[in-house]
Amino acid sequence: MTDTFVPTTAFAVAGRIAVSNRAAATWQRAVITHIRRETPRAATFRLAVPQWQGHLPGQHLMLRLTAQDGYTAQRHYSIASAPDDSGHIELTLDHVDGGEVSGHLHTTARPGDTVEVRGPLSGFFAWPGDRPALLLGAGSGVVPLMSMIRHHRLRGLDLPLRLLVSARTPADLIYASEYGPETTVIHTRTDGRLTAAHLEPYLGEHQPSGGWEAYICGSNGFAEHASRLLVAGGQPVDRIRIERFG
Ligand SMILES: Cc1cc2nc3c(=O)[nH]c(=O)nc-3n(C[C@H](O)[C@H](O)[C@H](O)COP(=O)(O)OP(=O)(O)OC[C@H]3O[C@@H](n4cnc5c(N)ncnc54)[C@H](O)[C@@H]3O)c2cc1C
Repeated sequence: MTDTFVPTTAFAVAGRIAVSNRAAATWQRAVITHIRRETPRAATFRLAVPQWQGHLPGQHLMLRLTAQDGYTAQRHYSIASAPDDSGHIELTLDHVDGGEVSGHLHTTARPGDTVEVRGPLSGFFAWPGDRPALLLGAGSGVVPLMSMIRHHRLRGLDLPLRLLVSARTPADLIYASEYGPETTVIHTRTDGRLTAAHLEPYLGEHQPSGGWEAYICGSNGFAEHASRLLVAGGQPVDRIRIERFG
């Protein structure tokens, strides 16, 4: 079934303007220009989206595949790249066993193929780069958080930004070569789960002035666990934003 999604043709370049609701509601053709392996289970898909009108770090989009018989499948994906003027965006997908959309993109899609995207969507999980942010991610939940880290670097922001990222093993860690001193990696198979001790250096008296905006992304289980730890450590509930992939 998945190999019947046919590429359609790309279309002409147009100027990019501020994000509007209308743009987010419109399907746009996106050409896969590059596929980069991140881990045995995850790959990054670079897409040329000439009419992309920009996004904020943390936002996601809807991706749609259309088969020859008109059947469509659409899924949400976080945007991994920082906002820029390149006319390209990047998505990082886990290959879900038996997954219709991730299966097609991982096994059949090639550079030059076209998909459709609609977005950016949801401002709630966005980080505009205007306040200190404490980021907690697990597995592919690190994708929208990497957009924030890349934005922070690209813009040379000096606001505090910290990332705690969980992956089963070093081989499962997405973006392994990109992390800097802002990041703490937890390999759950050897280190165990995220604990209060991992958060302790950032909470209470160690918080930046004005406190953190906390962003959690991952499975339902990780989101529940991480948010409980944050609240127990004194992080105000109304300053915790959660994105669940599960
Ligand atoms: C806001 C949002 C952002 C997201 N961003 C990303 C992202 O950046 N990268 C990414 O890889 N995914 C992301 N997802 C998950 C993504 O939308 C799909 O659910 C995922 O790619 C599976 O789709 P599929 O068509 O391959 O599998 P399906 O055909 O929908 O599912 C196949 C089987 O896998 C199970 N399954 C579905 N999703 C998952 C999952 N995530 N983990 C384990 N089992 C699953 C289903 O229950 C089913 O049994 C995001 C989801 C949301 C809601």
